[in-house]
Amino acid sequence: MGRSVTGVSEHFDCVIIGAGFSGLAMLAHLRDAGFTCLLVDRQEDVGGTWRANRYPGVRTDSDYPIYSFSFSPEVRNEWRWTQRYAPGAEVLAYLEFVADRLDLRGDMRFGVDLRRAEFQDGRWHLSFADGSTTTGTYLISCMGILDDPIWPDVPGLDSFTGTLLHSSQWPREGIDLTGKRVGLIGLGSSGLQILPAIAPECAEVVVFQRQPNYVVDSTFFPVTDEEMDRTRREYDEIWERAKAHPFGVDMVIPAHGALDVDPEERRRIFESKWQEGGHHFANETFHDLATDSAASDAASEFIRGKIREIVKDPHTAELLCPTDYSFNGKRVPTGHRYYETYNLPHVHLIDVKSQPITLVTPAGVVVGETEYPLDVLICATGFDAMTGPLTRIDIVGRDGLVLRDKWANGIRTNLGISVHGFPNFFMSIGPQTPYSNLPVPIQLGAQWVTRAIQFAERTGTELEATPESEEWWAAEVDAAGRETVMYEEGLKAKAWFFGANVRGKPRELLVYMGGGQKYQEMCRQAEADDYASFRN
Ligand code: NAP
Repeated sequence: MGRSVTGVSEHFDCVIIGAGFSGLAMLAHLRDAGFTCLLVDRQEDVGGTWRANRYPGVRTDSDYPIYSFSFSPEVRNEWRWTQRYAPGAEVLAYLEFVADRLDLRGDMRFGVDLRRAEFQDGRWHLSFADGSTTTGTYLISCMGILDDPIWPDVPGLDSFTGTLLHSSQWPREGIDLTGKRVGLIGLGSSGLQILPAIAPECAEVVVFQRQPNYVVDSTFFPVTDEEMDRTRREYDEIWERAKAHPFGVDMVIPAHGALDVDPEERRRIFESKWQEGGHHFANETFHDLATDSAASDAASEFIRGKIREIVKDPHTAELLCPTDYSFNGKRVPTGHRYYETYNLPHVHLIDVKSQPITLVTPAGVVVGETEYPLDVLICATGFDAMTGPLTRIDIVGRDGLVLRDKWANGIRTNLGISVHGFPNFFMSIGPQTPYSNLPVPIQLGAQWVTRAIQFAERTGTELEATPESEEWWAAEVDAAGRETVMYEEGLKAKAWFFGANVRGKPRELLVYMGGGQKYQEMCRQAEADDYASFRN
């Protein structure tokens, strides 16, 4: 046993890993329930993904009342949001405020990088990169779903002598791109937020596109005092609606399917929600864009029409039109004047689908016979999503079973919360939890885990998914996915929610597509059954 990570206490009821939305909610609830807690994070302060991802243009694409917590009256009443779809810096400041206002910092340690957690003699033994250790009765992963960056698989990347950046590891002090020749690889949600934010200051931007995306435009309204007051009064109702929505948003599920109306009416409805911006297009046009391939095709065609309308150069417009998969095949990204940016004369779109990047040299990027000289190369190439953070470290359960090995041929969990062989280990938004606006399942999950731990303490039980529950849940996740267009289209699009963006990762659904409201019902049922499916 090395020195204690806190320098004071060796043992805690609960050890929480990660200080983002999940970690803060978990710590607040467990501490208020009277448990001794330690939260550790490898970054220098709270924020999780919002501390790591500080690239230009970063912002949430969820409306602020549901991209925040509802559980704390103090936080609800005292925090003032300035914009819908808040910029990343504002979300980070919010999380810092939550930590301060709820007085959580005393139970946190930063710059502490977990390397190994092993269950032995009824407790979790944790060791950190600096040699320090601690133990906990319960181990709770709040490491987030997108914490493990992946770099593009192109030869010579390390030889680049300009500035090489990943969207999720942006320099804390920022970087001056004025007058620079900048290359951008990756046009998922991150890359397409970066492009319009940096293009005006760069001398030249070369965008290397493999697969285009269906990008929905967003407008950032300021939040007025009246609106903020109204939201504060209506927080509970807003959250009840978000909890009842499959994707955890405060939106009305439309009555009609896309093909229930004639083409002219369909176009009118698409247009009105396109103008409203953001996820209104995906959620408030027709109820079947995620479940019916003809409806998804109709939305795809509408967006391709928008691209052709906005982008002046016809060749560039065609390159930006996705044709290999349909709308919802990837998580729908929202941008801000993304397509318009390609009308700037110094922004060049290079197709690296028909001719992949050949090589990165010290001076730039080579595609075929052409070298593009660059001062800065930005890789917005995504993450080893959902499982990456949990398999990067050694999580060792009963009888030496390592989580990474257990999942090598397929993920097994009960409700995405607990894994057989790993007693008293819980995950916030683990693999196989709902595809959703995340603060909603995060808050509800923290409350569920807190009650589960109270039950375990009361009854002297160790909680751990039964093997039967894992098989049941794997089948449910698969069946729910197959009822959506995300299944086939996600595979075609090589979406991260299928693990298809990582070479060698098994192709399987990493999220539950059956809807947050159904999922919460199943969690409630598990609790009503005295956690029978979590007791061996
Ligand atoms: P991503 O969606 O996985 O996108 C990665 C991009 O990198 C794709 O365009 C991919 O192309 C490209 N790429 C990878 N290797 C490449 C190569 N060798 N050559 C050319 N292109 C390559 O990653 P992300 O944009 O970081 O977003 C991940 C998730 O983070 C999002 O889906 C979302 O859940 C979350 N996010 C949310 C927000 C928000 O607004 N709230 C903002 C940022 C991120 P292919 O498509 O061809 O594979």
